[in-house]
Amino acid sequence: MDNDSKFDGESARVMMKELRETYSTGKTKSYEWRICQLNNLLKIAEFHEPEILQALHSDISKPEFESFVHEIWLIKTSCKLAIKELKRWMKPEKVGTTLVTFPSSAEIVAEPFGVVLIISAWNYPFLLSLDPVIGAIAAGNTVVLKPSEVSPATSSLLAKYIGEYMDSSAVKVVEGAIPETSVLLEQKWDKILYTGNSKVGRIVLAAAAKHLTPVVLELGGKSPIIVDSDIDLKIAARRIISGKWGCNNGQACISPDYIITTKDFAPKLVDSLKLQLLKFYGEEPLKSDDLSRVVNSNHFNRLIKLLDDDKVSGKIVHGGQRDIVNLKIAPAILLDVPEDSLIMNEEIFGPLLAIVTVDRLEESFNIINSRPKPLAAYLFTNNKKLKEKFVGDVSAGGLLINDTTLHLTVPTLPFGGVGESGMGGYHGKFSFDTFSHKKAVMYRSYLGDASERYPPYTTRKLRF
Ligand code: NAD
Repeated sequence: MDNDSKFDGESARVMMKELRETYSTGKTKSYEWRICQLNNLLKIAEFHEPEILQALHSDISKPEFESFVHEIWLIKTSCKLAIKELKRWMKPEKVGTTLVTFPSSAEIVAEPFGVVLIISAWNYPFLLSLDPVIGAIAAGNTVVLKPSEVSPATSSLLAKYIGEYMDSSAVKVVEGAIPETSVLLEQKWDKILYTGNSKVGRIVLAAAAKHLTPVVLELGGKSPIIVDSDIDLKIAARRIISGKWGCNNGQACISPDYIITTKDFAPKLVDSLKLQLLKFYGEEPLKSDDLSRVVNSNHFNRLIKLLDDDKVSGKIVHGGQRDIVNLKIAPAILLDVPEDSLIMNEEIFGPLLAIVTVDRLEESFNIINSRPKPLAAYLFTNNKKLKEKFVGDVSAGGLLINDTTLHLTVPTLPFGGVGESGMGGYHGKFSFDTFSHKKAVMYRSYLGDASERYPPYTTRKLRF
């Protein structure tokens, strides 16, 4: 869309008509079109790295290393995988049939849904916009991407380069905030993938219900870590920090939100976290270039409210200094937070880490299972029984044992939530599947036409 023109109901209808016409030509279904578009998308990541890094820095002061690895590299990897595997993914899957239908053959044919909408979030604005687009194109759909207005530099970069590199009759970007998204949600889509908070997730689901549109909701939640005492403490501390502060300064959907550990072990864990934080970010973390800022003043004020809650006064055992001008908060650890404190009752999504202590580690399972299902859950232990109990008893979008966040980078694993943390998933082949309808196709010949299936339904036929 032209950035200066208002996106209203009429523009949406014109756009939808064009996308439907494009889809009905059948061109997006061809292998050649899909590969060409995937290659063009890859070029955006390959040819415009400095501008992408710049946009991410402007939107959230994301450290260059994180922008490169967590956004550009992941998009390149995802795109290259789709290019390499597309032929295999598109191939109909032959399946067996039954004696009743003999002779027959059957296959599952993946067909595109048609015209799909992708609504993306601000925290990984390049990755979370383009990764679903890769799946949608690989599956042969026409696509509209609505990036987040909270990351405006990346939004306009995506609008510019998708306009330049992609087939504009089939792949479009609509920039904007609530009014534009609301207009988009009034249209009839064949599939919607939304990434963001669960309040808006409900709005998306309600809008989609009017048209019976299937929806993927990539939401968030409070992702816990259970920490046992039988671990390599230094490595565990480094990995916890990497998933928390090393992922957009905690502004990541699968960033650890709170730790559960025993009262006895908590002081050792806190000491180790403090030591490693000092090594990573120095004496003055507010000045570190390796920590993103808080995205905007709304989120900054929200986080300060969590820190200043009366129920956690005296519980801050590390950090928490603020720089209101630059929207920075130093990595903060809060020990022994009560379950009814504010920080334990909303997703933190920032540089604060809460620690809940228990007498026995087994109590962790009740704490986690009494809360909404998280997007990720982590466990640090060497205890085999504890690992088995964790895998068997904890329901979350994904589980990772002895590390944090890395499961997101493995394309053979589906990425998505469950319950309050979302529905559906994507990544790797799961992205292709998410944007494909799996059509059941059966073939019969005129041989073996058993008379048992036809009237008159005699007693003899009933016993067949
Ligand atoms: P956001 O503010 O960027 O909003 C997400 C999208 O929703 C944007 O495109 C925005 O324009 C749109 N939107 C906002 N209000 C709307 C409304 N009233 N009607 C229609 N559309 C509206 O992002 P956010 O929600 O602050 O993102 C943070 C949340 O997203 C956290 O809960 C986080 O855990 C979750 N998240 C999940 C994933 C995942 O992959 N599961 C990834 C990133 C973030």
